[in-house]
Amino acid sequence: MRIGVPKEIKTHENRVGLTPSSVRELTVHGHQVMVQKHAGLAIDFDDGRYQAAGAEIVETAEEIFARAELIVKVKEPQPEELKLLHADQTLFTYLHLAPDPAQARALLESGCIAIAYETVTDQYGGLPLLAPMSEVAGRMSIQAGAHALEMDQGGRGMLLGGVSGVPSAKVVILGGGVVGTNAARVAMGMEAHVTVVDKSIHRLQQLDQQYGSRINTVFSTVDAIEEQVSEADLVVGAVLVPGGSTPRLVGHELVKSMNRGAVLVDVAIDQGGCFATSKPTTLADPVYILDDVVHYCVSNMPGAVARTSTFALNNVTLPYVLTIAEKGSRNALVDDAHLRNGLNVYLGQITHQAVAHDLGLPY
Ligand code: NAD
Repeated sequence: MRIGVPKEIKTHENRVGLTPSSVRELTVHGHQVMVQKHAGLAIDFDDGRYQAAGAEIVETAEEIFARAELIVKVKEPQPEELKLLHADQTLFTYLHLAPDPAQARALLESGCIAIAYETVTDQYGGLPLLAPMSEVAGRMSIQAGAHALEMDQGGRGMLLGGVSGVPSAKVVILGGGVVGTNAARVAMGMEAHVTVVDKSIHRLQQLDQQYGSRINTVFSTVDAIEEQVSEADLVVGAVLVPGGSTPRLVGHELVKSMNRGAVLVDVAIDQGGCFATSKPTTLADPVYILDDVVHYCVSNMPGAVARTSTFALNNVTLPYVLTIAEKGSRNALVDDAHLRNGLNVYLGQITHQAVAHDLGLPY
């Protein structure tokens, strides 16, 4: 199969769809891989390494999109990329389609087959292609939040772990899945006072058993969220309804009631965000202050640590890329129900129920 890897063009996005070693795996199996010039340069994968792995270096994204049967990317296609997709071509990448009707429209019009990393499932009920980026974003959320709590960022001027004689900061994490657990681990490591709120009692039991007295677990209700958020110094938004838009758990009035200089890190912004006051920001300009509360709402946080993230992403995507290349996307989708759960758009139709529901489109 002819596989194309364009250079990512979202602001400050330096991840790349395939590493040189993933390219080698594909070329050894007889596939043809085209990589756009300088696609991995920022993370020390120069074109020579791709060539040594058997890739053809191609000057422009236009040429990659024109020739490839399978496009492997990281972020959702940007407007200039959407114009290049064509019928029968398979796109394998993060899409986050539910809150993005313009992208959905363009994908439908292109006639392509779009498989979203974030809705591929596994036999354990997890989201294996989202998980590694959630690990990264969860760990980063505390790093970003700690920085935003500093005075010159508009924060409360608090150190997460406090010091002798001064209490630690209160960190509240909404959603105790992959992002939430990784955020909790780092926050506990920095000796903050950590509370995780989740609507899954099973998840709360697991966290309680794993971390004991170092963590507080709270069942998610309107009351509990109000109580926890209004007293927090740092709140991490990490809830997910797979495929769907993020539930707005924190309304504007609750944000207004928060401590001056408190920080919201809305990791779930890629699916719409948990806070009524969230709007997407970029790695170039990550924070804004609204109602005296610092908001960090970067929708591609792992892009900041692009090298770690690219390796972590390739570890989980490569087996699927290989299968699609071996069987062709139609057969691969027919044979694997978990990969099929990743199918969001098929030749002009939305094929994921939660995505279609949130977009108000037929399924
Ligand atoms: P996950 O499925 O592992 O965890 C989500 C958790 O939210 C689950 O435990 C679920 O029970 C809980 N939840 C759902 N509804 C809830 C509610 N009403 N109250 C409390 N808890 C609730 O998902 P994840 O992998 O941790 O991802 C979380 C979000 O982070 C997703 O939107 C994902 O796309 C996003 N994400 C963003 C970035 C970024 O760069 N901004 C990177 C990676 C992941």
